[in-house]
Amino acid sequence: MKNREIAELFYEAADILEYQQVEWKPRAYRKAAQMIENLGEDIEKIYAREGKAGLTKIPGIGESIADHISEYLETNKVEKFEKLKEKAPSGTAELMEIRGLGAKKIKKLSDTLGVRTLSDLKNAIIAHRLKRLEGFGEKSEKNLARAIEQYEKSHARLALGKALPLADEVISALKAQCESRTSKIDLSKIIYTGSLRRLKETIGDIDILAEAEKEEALKVMDCFVSLPDVEQVILKGSTKSSVILREGTAIDLRVVPPESYGAALQYFTGSKEHNIELRNVAIKNGYKLSEYGLYLKESGKQIAGSSEAEIYERLGLAYIPPELRENRGEIKAAARNALPKLVEAGDLRGDLHMHTEYSEGKDSLKTMIEKAETLGYEYIAVTDHSRSQKIANGLEVEKLKAQWKEIDKLSKQFRIKILKGSEVDILKDGSLDYPAGILKELDVVVGAVHSGFAFPERRMTERIVTALENKYLDILAHPSGRLLGKREAYAVNFEKVFEVAAANGKVIEINSQPSRLDLNDDLILRAKTFGLKFCISTDSHTVSDLTSMRYGLGQARRGWLEKEDVVNTYPYSRLKQVFKKLNA
Ligand SMILES: [Zn+2]
Ligand SMILES: [Zn+2]
Repeated sequence: MKNREIAELFYEAADILEYQQVEWKPRAYRKAAQMIENLGEDIEKIYAREGKAGLTKIPGIGESIADHISEYLETNKVEKFEKLKEKAPSGTAELMEIRGLGAKKIKKLSDTLGVRTLSDLKNAIIAHRLKRLEGFGEKSEKNLARAIEQYEKSHARLALGKALPLADEVISALKAQCESRTSKIDLSKIIYTGSLRRLKETIGDIDILAEAEKEEALKVMDCFVSLPDVEQVILKGSTKSSVILREGTAIDLRVVPPESYGAALQYFTGSKEHNIELRNVAIKNGYKLSEYGLYLKESGKQIAGSSEAEIYERLGLAYIPPELRENRGEIKAAARNALPKLVEAGDLRGDLHMHTEYSEGKDSLKTMIEKAETLGYEYIAVTDHSRSQKIANGLEVEKLKAQWKEIDKLSKQFRIKILKGSEVDILKDGSLDYPAGILKELDVVVGAVHSGFAFPERRMTERIVTALENKYLDILAHPSGRLLGKREAYAVNFEKVFEVAAANGKVIEINSQPSRLDLNDDLILRAKTFGLKFCISTDSHTVSDLTSMRYGLGQARRGWLEKEDVVNTYPYSRLKQVFKKLNA
């Protein structure tokens, strides 16, 4: 699937054009890139089926953009963009990604200080050369230093929401590649390992593990390095190969023989801390554990290794799901057979946070409902923004009431239960953004902080506590407000927040948006000790977002949550006991 690759192409071109102060094109390119990214269908397939005409049917894609796309699909490059890149200073695209820097400022830096790349900029900041530069100054120098730090941090690690689909894609491409060859190789056990398998919020590297007999291993590697999306082969061997994909991500593939597959999977899944503890357990029991297998210490005889489950069993432990392998007490719990029975995808019966065209969503109410129904949900809550969210097109009371009417109408056409909800702003004084008369009418009130992120801790805590004490609030959404790689969590006393939330029977959201994943796993673990209940929500802004539940679910599992802890696993009849207004 080349959607992401093509989207990148337009984003990059937009950046360069903006730098050249071209007027409207950057906007059009970014819009097209966004459409392509969120398309949900393989753009290559559309083109193969319908040609250019199929491309222009996509909203935001006109004749000339469609020309560029078809040129890329045919020749793997766009002549016009190649020329653009030649003319643009090479570091521009990267500089555009630094928060606080726009095209104008970059040009100024280039013209006055000769800053053309990120490392130029870093040097200029260290030498305090921006201090006296018009339009910059001491404060902006500090802000830029911080923005660079964040940029580098986020680029060192991949977001789960990017890594997981990418790994899935590479694995299915590799399977297809191996199957299409004359001597078929069975890759049914191929899997990603490492922090990705543990579903951490950000991923260091994408590592893939496959099982094959020694004489087959090199054939698997042949398939791997010849995948169409591979840009560069760093290393090719019979046990390990490394490549860089065209879109820039590095991927490692290991191939191990069947008798070592389980041991390798266990070893490469990590975490390091978990593995150290596990090796200690092995030693205490007279074994030796390595990536090749579990061996008797004395004789060196292998007693397990082909499956992970077998290794844990031989060590006297219950099987530990990957999400728990962080050395946070899981090994002791496994020894006592006291691991939590983690919540699963199949347990989820609804989604309690989503946006439609009424506010900042991209799809209509009806489209969202249709998709939710195909996902097999029993209920959803429609939660567009409240009136103060002007930039997100928040709903005035009249518009909210109009939405209720449409929900009533659509409720008759669909099996799924549609709850009238709202993502209501928690205002700066902690009050909610609709009058009581409206809040009372809503089935579900999802409260969220969207402004005043820089409040000192005490003030922010008071603000959220006030909201939690409001009888109309049901769910506290994205409780820390962080945006991965972009904005840190606001300062707030979570101990106090959890205590008040528990005392008032409020539900805490685990937001599944890959850029949020909020609450994070550590805070989920902490919140659970207060006896709190959670909901896993997608906060969807498009139909395709509705399937991002898996990311939030991963964090819930990392936070040791069971089905019972998560209210959107409850059937509707029981949900009514959680959200009392549903009984009215
Ligand atoms: Zn929000
Ligand atoms: Zn939202």
